[in-house]
Amino acid sequence: MYRTHTCGELRIENKGTKVTLAGWVQRSRDLGGMTFVDLRDRYGITQLVFNMDVNAPLCEQARKLGREFVIQAIGTVVERSSKNANMNTGEVEVVIDELNILSKSATPPFTIEDETDGGEDLRMKYRYLDLRRAPLRNNLMLRHRLSLETRKYLDSVGFMEVETPYLIKSTPEGARDFVVPSRMNAGQFYALPQSPQTFKQLLMVSGYDKYYQVVKCFRDEDLRADRQPEFTQIDCEMAFVEQEDILQNFEGLVKHLFKTVKGIDLGSIPRMQYSEAMERFGSDKPDMRFGMEFIDLAPVAKNKGFAIFDQAETVLAIVAKGCAEFTRKQLDELTEWVKRPQIGAKGLVYSKCNADGTFKSSVDKFFDEQALKLWAQHCGADSGDLIFALSGDLDTTRKQLCELRLHLGTQLGLRKPDNYVPLWVVDFPLLEWDDDSKRFHAMHHPFTSPKPEDLALLESQPGKVRANAYDMVINGVELGGGSIRIYDRDLQAQMFKLLGFTAEEAQAQFGFLMKAFEFGAPPHGGIAFGFDRLCAMFGGTDSIRDYIAFPKNNSGRDVMIDAPAIIDDAQLKELSLKVTVAPTT
Ligand code: ASP
Repeated sequence: MYRTHTCGELRIENKGTKVTLAGWVQRSRDLGGMTFVDLRDRYGITQLVFNMDVNAPLCEQARKLGREFVIQAIGTVVERSSKNANMNTGEVEVVIDELNILSKSATPPFTIEDETDGGEDLRMKYRYLDLRRAPLRNNLMLRHRLSLETRKYLDSVGFMEVETPYLIKSTPEGARDFVVPSRMNAGQFYALPQSPQTFKQLLMVSGYDKYYQVVKCFRDEDLRADRQPEFTQIDCEMAFVEQEDILQNFEGLVKHLFKTVKGIDLGSIPRMQYSEAMERFGSDKPDMRFGMEFIDLAPVAKNKGFAIFDQAETVLAIVAKGCAEFTRKQLDELTEWVKRPQIGAKGLVYSKCNADGTFKSSVDKFFDEQALKLWAQHCGADSGDLIFALSGDLDTTRKQLCELRLHLGTQLGLRKPDNYVPLWVVDFPLLEWDDDSKRFHAMHHPFTSPKPEDLALLESQPGKVRANAYDMVINGVELGGGSIRIYDRDLQAQMFKLLGFTAEEAQAQFGFLMKAFEFGAPPHGGIAFGFDRLCAMFGGTDSIRDYIAFPKNNSGRDVMIDAPAIIDDAQLKELSLKVTVAPTT
């Protein structure tokens, strides 16, 4: 037996027990006649003691142990004289009388401690060492916990996990596909699933009316902190349901996860229409932890001689409570901030509602005290508050003001990571106009069902049609989204047409699904949650990478195994492929 206990297990009750431990040497310290070794494994750290007076050769051997050596140590549990309340095993130590080195270690390229000296690149290259550190280990344990609780909950309400294939053909989630050449079918390619969307719908046709899968999805998009080329979804689908059934079921899942993993009672989750979310917060994923809602300032700010406002389609304002004392410098910084290319505003208008009842704005030339007082009344701003306004076309102004709202929310400490405020955003538009391609795109995906009451508009005013589509949003993060699907062959064909597919294209790409709908398709709908994002949210950070054992870097590379990589000529030949570019790295 390599070990009788783990390194996180021993307590004062084990005093006097003879134990065998195995693990990695975190560090060793020589203190006069004693040598202390911290032995680590996945479960924790236990202090080992070697005494020069009792066993000099063994103590000498212990002194030679390098960091990250793998050892086995046999000894007796004793009570520590100086206890460490920060460690689970801090009341005891093990006096060792036999030591075996199982494996030596080269000096690790960075310290394997909670706070490491290793930079991100180095840690990615040696990810297997980084994973020995407690913060990452805790992240992966959190991930495990969440996936386990997800499965427990979904199983308890009758869902069945079914695996779907990875080598498929293009799925319509709107991203670029990763493709895999087929050797047996020369010149042809599989696409990796952007999601199992079509398969889960086929499973509904097959009668598996409550499906789920914790599943890898692949999307070839530019990467950000919350995106990886391969990521995991909790993918779900149900048959014989309406939108309300889906919302209830998956509200149940999210509440279960918060309760069991975080001990938080989320309460019931409010709903908000997409149009309302856009109007009040300029976003389809509003952060509901704070107010600062949009106010249409036009009625009191337009046609007063200020050309910028007068010419704008929209003038929108927000009120920063208690911020009238902002300094010139703070206001200049905010103005620069909104003018950065990422936000793209031309300028920022403010009006301070001073504590003494006077007003001071950046547009004093055009608006006198009386006019600014009207602004304040219109916005519900009190003395001591600060009004910010942006103007321009509706969509752009909303986006910009949304960014400013979030920025101020962060600055003012209104976005506390441990305060979770969930929201269902419902009734998304079915279609989205794309100016570049000059046509409509599916806002969710082409299988999303229009709201029956809006069906009549499908031909005449497609942009006005709302969908039975919904997102779950927590703290401004879209955690999941889904829709009720089209299950009628003809409506699906009409939808493909609206999206600019010719009948032949639709047939070639999705003929199998439309065919399946000819054989008795039940009404169905579903949802998918971004599992990595869920983990990051539970862990209180933005970076999903920290919750993935072996993630890619921002260029989509795995720097540890050095992938992607070129393949040799023989392999290319087998695949009937010719590469005409030199690799860039
Ligand atoms: N397939 C969708 C997605 O990946 C989710 C769904 O509609 O169920 O976003």
